[in-house]
This record gives sequence, structure tokens and C-alpha cells, in this order.
Amino acid sequence: MSVAAGREFLAIPGPTIIPDVVLAAMHRPAVDIYAGPMVALTDGLLADLQKIFRTTGRTYIYAANGHGAWEAALTNVLSRGEKVLVLESGRFAIAWGDGAKMLGADVEVLPGDFRRAVRPEALEARLKADAKGEIKAVLVAQIDTASGVVNDIKAIGEAIRAAGHDALLLVDTVASLGCMPFEMDAWGVDVAMAGSQKGLMTPPGLGFTAASPRARERHNKANMRTHYWDWTFREGEVHYHKYCGTPPEQLLFALRAAFDLIFAEGLDNVFKRHRMLAEATRRAVVIWAEGQALGFNIAEPEERCDTVTAVVARDGVNAQPLVDYCANQCGVVLGRALGKLEGKGFRIAHMGHVNAPMVLGTLSVVEMGLSALGIPHGKGGSAAAIDYLAKTVPA
Ligand SMILES: *Cc1c(COP(=O)(O)O)cnc(C)c1O
Repeated sequence: MSVAAGREFLAIPGPTIIPDVVLAAMHRPAVDIYAGPMVALTDGLLADLQKIFRTTGRTYIYAANGHGAWEAALTNVLSRGEKVLVLESGRFAIAWGDGAKMLGADVEVLPGDFRRAVRPEALEARLKADAKGEIKAVLVAQIDTASGVVNDIKAIGEAIRAAGHDALLLVDTVASLGCMPFEMDAWGVDVAMAGSQKGLMTPPGLGFTAASPRARERHNKANMRTHYWDWTFREGEVHYHKYCGTPPEQLLFALRAAFDLIFAEGLDNVFKRHRMLAEATRRAVVIWAEGQALGFNIAEPEERCDTVTAVVARDGVNAQPLVDYCANQCGVVLGRALGKLEGKGFRIAHMGHVNAPMVLGTLSVVEMGLSALGIPHGKGGSAAAIDYLAKTVPA
């Protein structure tokens, strides 16, 4: 038996649901890449990226996914052999560091925990011990999509300054930009990077970086620079150079439509919506956890992020049949557990183009699966989510 017919609901943390207006915006013929509307489109998108990153620094758009934007961030400010410090709190900063190693950086990991956020005190202590200033950059993800943690980027910036250290702060905002506050300038971030396919509701294929004046200074001395990623090359007047070649036109039309949606709702309202739908999800997981088979990956409630909830199963409980049931019998695709959690849980994304029926429907389907499979759980998780939203969204 199956009740999966109808539109499949993608509840994985990227790519996320693409709004119909964003999909429709791509259905257009190609246009001239040297003049006309494409040039104005680029100028508008670069300016709007500044608004979303909350920076007066320059922004850059690449035909690339998040891994490409990682490489763009690194190569523009580093030289081969320079030391970078990776702040562990899941999987993604580690993977960014692995990329840095292949580019010739000397990578050190500040060890963390798959269940905790980065501790700014540990960073401050490590930087104070670096009396010779060998560490040139610090790499951290604002939200780690594998562990479901949110890191306090403001406190991390303050820790660098408290240590009196001049390492650049490089932040991965792939799973947080456009979903929760990010204040590039106010928090002292030097390079921020993101991709199009998560909170920004656009198909995969666009990567972004933003650079502070300090990052631009380092850039002048960096020797990891390559033609494709290079900021200086992209800063010229020639439109074709801004993409180091042919612009990914249809993706840019899509991004324009997605930004229009975000600004029409208002960034603050977008953040509040994410916060409420994430909290509704957490209310459900708290109840399910009463069965002692499932629980949150992130131990501290205030370290759980607002875009994805990582749920872990107790030893001996296999979560894969639940994920399969939700997909095959109900048409809801949950995120598989990643990294250290591989095979040991699932992730519920609440990121980007999501509303109450999408999240409540997903929670109800998970609860249906828990019942159908006889996995011990507290009853009434989705009812708890409904009660929370009914109180938070008054008539
Ligand atoms: C998805 C993700 C990435 C990788 O992006 P790709 O487009 O898959 O290369 C990097 N960092 C974070 C935090 C992510 O969630």
C-alpha cells in the first residue's frame, strides 16, 4: 500500500524546494552576454548579495556549487604553505579544510565534537598560543548541515580579536544565508561564501563570495590565485569577465526571482518563519524522544540550528526503514544522516521555500512511519508542533 502519489515533498537540506516563480523565470531564451538587460541583472544581483551578506564589501558570482565557492574563498586570499585553522563542529568545515590541503595550505583542525558547536574560548586559546602569527585564516561553517549545529559567528569573530590575532575569518554560509541572521561587517567576517540551492531557493549551480577590505588586501599578496576564481579579474568593467566567461544566464534569472521573493517577504520575516518552523520540528522531536529510540544529535538546545534538524537513533535502532517508508509509501524524502551519523539517523530540512503545511505534513509522515514500523516513540509529536505554531501565529 502507498499514499505517495501526488507531488513528492523534498525535505532534504539541499537542494531545497524551488518555488514555481523561480522555475518559471528560467524558461527563457538566452540573451546577449555583452550588453542590455544581462548587464543590469548582474549589477542588481551583486548589490543584492551585499544586502543579504550584510556587507559593503565586494561580492562575486561563480558558475559553481558550494565546493567551488569554497575554492574561490581560499584561493583569493591564501598562499601555498600558509596555515589555516579549521573549526570542527560536524562535517562541512572539515571538508573545506580537505580542499585547502589539496590547494597547498597547511591545515590544522581545532578538534570539536559532532554534537556541539565550536567553543570560541578554545579558538581564543589556540590563537593566543600562535605567538608568531602563523595561522593566516580561520575556517568555520555557520550552520553545519550534517550535525545540525549553529555556530556563533559573532562570538568567534570576537575571540579572534580578543586574542589580538590577525587571521582572516572565512565563513561558510551555504546552509544559513537567507534563513537566519548573518552580519558580515558587524561580526568582522573577512570572506563569506554560499551556494544557490539551499536557503536561496535556486537550482544548484551558483556559488557566491563576499570580501572585506582586509581580505582584498591579503588578496594582493596571495599566490594561490587562479584565473577562474580570481576576484581582480572579475572586477573589471567587461561584463564577460565578471563570470570569467559566459554567464549562467538562466540560473541568474532564477536567482533574481528568488531574491525578489525574499525581499517581498522581508529578510527579518524570512528569519522568523525559519525560526518558528524549526521550533515546531524540535517540539515534535522532543515528544518522539520520550520513546527512547530517537533523539537530537545536538546536545544543547540553543546550539540546534533553524534550517535542519538532525535526529539520531539509539544503538540497535535502524533508522533506514523509516527513511525508506517516508519516501516510498508517503512521498516525503528525508535527509540521510551524514558523516559520523551515516546509517544512524535522519535529517529533516526546514530551509528555504517552506511553510506550515510542508513542515507539519513532514512531521506527520515521520510520526506515521514511526507507528507503522513499530519504532518506540512518544505519541503526539506533530500535535505538539501544531500547538506551538497555533500559539506563535495568533489569529
Ligand atoms: C551543502 C553544503 C555545502 C556544499 O555545497 P555543494 O553545493 O554541495 O558543493 C557546503 N557547506 C555547507 C554548510 C553545506 O550545507
